[in-house]
Amino acid sequence: MKIANFNQGRIGIIDGDSVADVSDLVACDPVAWPPTGMLQFIASFEQIKPRIGERLRTASRIPLSSAVLNCPIVWPNKVIAYPANYHAHIGEMKTGTGLISKFDASGQGFFLKSNSSLSGPGDPIVLPALPDREIHHECELAIIIGKGGRSIPVDRAVDHVFGYSCLIDVVVRGKEERVMRKSFDTFCPMGPYLTTADEVPHYEDIDLELNVNGETRQKANTRDLIVGVPEMIAMASSVMMLHPGDIIASGTPAGVGRLKDKDRVTIRIAGVGEMTLDVEQGNDGAHPVWNKAAALTA
Ligand code: MN
Repeated sequence: MKIANFNQGRIGIIDGDSVADVSDLVACDPVAWPPTGMLQFIASFEQIKPRIGERLRTASRIPLSSAVLNCPIVWPNKVIAYPANYHAHIGEMKTGTGLISKFDASGQGFFLKSNSSLSGPGDPIVLPALPDREIHHECELAIIIGKGGRSIPVDRAVDHVFGYSCLIDVVVRGKEERVMRKSFDTFCPMGPYLTTADEVPHYEDIDLELNVNGETRQKANTRDLIVGVPEMIAMASSVMMLHPGDIIASGTPAGVGRLKDKDRVTIRIAGVGEMTLDVEQGNDGAHPVWNKAAALTA
C-alpha cells in the first residue's frame, strides 16, 4: 500500500492512477496544528486496516497527476540518522586509517536530524547562502516506525516497521556540529509517499540510486549496509523510545557529491518510490559561525 500526504494534510492511498482520500478513517483534520494526521493513521493502522478495502470503494478520488504530494510525515517525534553505514562510503570519507570500525555506524551509533528539515516531493532543496561551502546529497532508505517500543530485540525489530520511503540527507560539509550542518530547512526531503512493509519484504536486498541532472552519482544495495535494518532499530531503541511515525535515515552509500543551484536530483529506491527535486539557491543561512577565517581573526 502506498500512503500519501496530499493537498496540504489529507491522507490518501494511491490506487493505480488515482488517490483515494481516506482522511476520515482517522478523523484527520487537514488544517489542524500540529499536523499529526499521518501519525494517527500509522499508530492505528492495525485497527483501521480491515476497513481500508471497503473505504477504497467509496472514497472520493482525484487523479494522481493532479494531486500535490507533500512530505508524508511532517511532524514525527524524531528523525534518527545513521552515519557511515556502507563500507564504500567510509572509504571515500576516511582512507588509510586501518580503524574503520571505530568510524562506521557500528561503532559510532546514530545522530538526530531536525524534524523541521523535512520537506516533500514537490518542494525544492533550498541551498543556504554559504558560497564557500560544499553542500552534498546523501541517498538514503528511510525506515518508518509503525509499532513503537523500547529495547526492541533484533529478532523482532522488523515487526516494528510500518514502511519505507525515499530520503535525501543533505549536508553542509565541515567540522561544525553535525546536527547544525544537516538541519537547514529542506535538508531532509522525504517521499513521494510511504510504501508499507508488506510490499518491501526483502529489506536486505533493495537497490537504491541517486542521479543529478541525469548523471548517476550513487548506486547501491541495502545488502551492503554495515548496520542492517533490524540492527538499526535495535540500537536506536536501546537509547530511546521509538514512536509510530519515527523516521530512521539508514546512511548513505558511496558517491556523495555537490548540489548546485538549478540542479535536478532524482532518488529512486526499488519497490519503494522515486522523486525528482529541484535545487535552488536561497538567500538565508549566512552566519559568522560558518566563517572560520572571520572567527579566527575576530
Ligand atoms: Mn546521511
